[in-house]
Amino acid sequence: MFHTLIANTVPLMPKRLVGHLSRHYIAGPVLDDAIRTAHELESEGCRFTMDVLGESISRESEARAYGRQYLQVLDRIHAEGLDCNVSIKPTQMGLGLDPALCREIYGEIVSHAASLGNFVRVDMEDTPYTDLTLELQAGLERQHPGHTGVVIQAYLRRTDRDLGERILPAKTNVRLCKGIYREPLQLAYHDRQEVRDNFLHLLRRLLENGNYVGIATHDKVLVEGARQLIEELGLPPTACEFQMLLGVLPDLRREILAAGHKLRVYIPFGEAWFAYSTRRLKENPSLVSHFMLGLFRKH
Ligand SMILES: Cc1cc2nc3c(=O)[nH]c(=O)nc-3n(C[C@H](O)[C@H](O)[C@H](O)COP(=O)(O)OP(=O)(O)OC[C@H]3O[C@@H](n4cnc5c(N)ncnc54)[C@H](O)[C@@H]3O)c2cc1C
Repeated sequence: MFHTLIANTVPLMPKRLVGHLSRHYIAGPVLDDAIRTAHELESEGCRFTMDVLGESISRESEARAYGRQYLQVLDRIHAEGLDCNVSIKPTQMGLGLDPALCREIYGEIVSHAASLGNFVRVDMEDTPYTDLTLELQAGLERQHPGHTGVVIQAYLRRTDRDLGERILPAKTNVRLCKGIYREPLQLAYHDRQEVRDNFLHLLRRLLENGNYVGIATHDKVLVEGARQLIEELGLPPTACEFQMLLGVLPDLRREILAAGHKLRVYIPFGEAWFAYSTRRLKENPSLVSHFMLGLFRKH
């Protein structure tokens, strides 16, 4: 109740306060901020993925502008010599407006990424977009094999079936995460242990099948479970990677790296940081306590 109460007051919070709460989790408003952050973390041995904040746009021109921004991000990553790909939300590229427009913009970005030897991760949003997103990535992958991947969510009951029908046969490169959106009980597991169990079940199926997996979690139980699985299956360090959000549990990040695993940090940046921060805080009230903890520690 405490979480929900605070989450409901998020839209009323002054911009400066939200900026303060989210400063560890967002690189800043411009690309230079994201590049600087990546260079700072490079010495730890991290890899990166960059996310230009913005989603659910309402005009074609906005989708195209974000598309052009991603082309610049790819060029800059290339020029800086960073081990860094990009993560893109389908509704930011217009999936909610017109799937053909979305395909066209992604197509340009993936084509550019492929020409630079880079990679585009298609982020996963809420369930109205699940099928469209899986189809979108499958189409892009057919055009540019090896240069795209998608995200799957362990909280969704359907994901096990998606694996059998699409992800395993196509050997899709996936990021496996729990899932961040609020979904109804008939579509998603709500119980923490059920989500964890499904996460490790899906991970086993993926690794046994030889899919490349980005294991995206800060949950120590899952990190340990994944490490045991990798060891049990005798997989080389190149078979998968861990992925974590910028600013979350840096000690765990260093532990994973020290154990010899690959680790990719998700770096969000952009002018839309305020909308992103308030949305994350509202959608996942438990995050409020992480943010509040940061605030209290600071003072
Ligand atoms: C690289 C990456 C990409 C992702 N992409 C997507 C996506 O495309 N679609 C999607 O639906 N979801 C995505 N997610 C979010 C994911 O689905 C989970 O909601 C999120 O990672 C929290 O789950 P967890 O496994 O870390 O476990 P949790 O149990 O939620 O977290 C474990 C611990 O990590 C810490 N923690 C977790 N999150 C935060 C935070 N924000 N701030 C501070 N501490 C925190 C806390 O100490 C917490 O106890 C992504 C996550 C990562 C790491």
